[in-house]
Amino acid sequence: MKPRILIVYTGGTIGMTEDLATGALVPFSFDHLMKNVPKIGRLGYALDHVEIDPPIDSSNMNPTHWAQVAKMIADAYDDFDGFVVLHGTDTMAYTASALSFMLRGLAKPVILTGSQLPIGEIREDGTENLITALQIAAARTGDGAPMVQEVAISFGRHLWRGNRAMKVSSTNFGAFASYNYPPLADMDLHIVYRERLLARPAADSTLSPLYAMDDAVAVAFLYPGITEAALRPQLLAPGAKAVVLRTFGAGNAPTETWFTDLVAEAVRAGKVVVNVTQCPAGGVEEKRYATGDALARAGVVSGCDMTCEAALTKLMHLFGQGLTAAEVTAAMAKPLAGEMTIGE
Ligand code: ASP
Repeated sequence: MKPRILIVYTGGTIGMTEDLATGALVPFSFDHLMKNVPKIGRLGYALDHVEIDPPIDSSNMNPTHWAQVAKMIADAYDDFDGFVVLHGTDTMAYTASALSFMLRGLAKPVILTGSQLPIGEIREDGTENLITALQIAAARTGDGAPMVQEVAISFGRHLWRGNRAMKVSSTNFGAFASYNYPPLADMDLHIVYRERLLARPAADSTLSPLYAMDDAVAVAFLYPGITEAALRPQLLAPGAKAVVLRTFGAGNAPTETWFTDLVAEAVRAGKVVVNVTQCPAGGVEEKRYATGDALARAGVVSGCDMTCEAALTKLMHLFGQGLTAAEVTAAMAKPLAGEMTIGE
């Protein structure tokens, strides 16, 4: 049986062409993209596609688009062996994180990819990335099960767990990295999977998608010299239910009274404040320094080693399910889809 793969085209550089008037890259049609990769037919797969109309630059992605993509996958779930989502690189890690939470019970590959240069240019990385993503989506284990049974980003030479990855370069063909979880596969002459690192959902798991996302979540970035005037509106924004606080090092923050009082006030006001380090590698250890301990005592929740992308979309997802602040606080401490190391 030919592998049946559904391509979900959302836009991004991979399918862009130059606007003749401005010279800027703009998203273009799926047909144009496919015409430029004739060798795709040599894979011998049964391919079909769906698309977001019109295709967009991923800077325009929002939770409504995530739900649209998740629904496209869920609606076609039984008819395909795997899914390849073509997406701009800029917010690919957010979409991958969001999909990993929305697609509860996923046991088939959902592989996001894109490129730094558009397919159709003389020199580009899109063709390689697309073909590799399709091969990964079609890959099987020795027993015939899907090799990848989770949301992943395939880009350049590596396959990353989607909710562990971040965009690290705007120019390098290896645009993504994941510092707290090793690559799921390395793509060189062969595609070499690290099977012990791949998610293995229960054999009887069934897809039960949860599309709702609550966007009443914000991100506040600390820096030396930050003032109460700058931080207060972010932490106490009316209507906001949660804030991802981007802290220093192992989850540290100033111990000045105005700061700890402000954070405590936000927590008392019912906001879930989650501590996520600004460091791309490592995570929050609030008890290690007095400067982190003060946050814990103020009621801030540790984001452990989650990326900001994962913490933000997990909060949107949990509040989207109608959970209370106390329930969200408890759920943030447990992995939902392999996004954090603790408890694994
Ligand atoms: N701005 C583009 C996007 O994210 C960048 C890319 O695809 O590499 O849609």
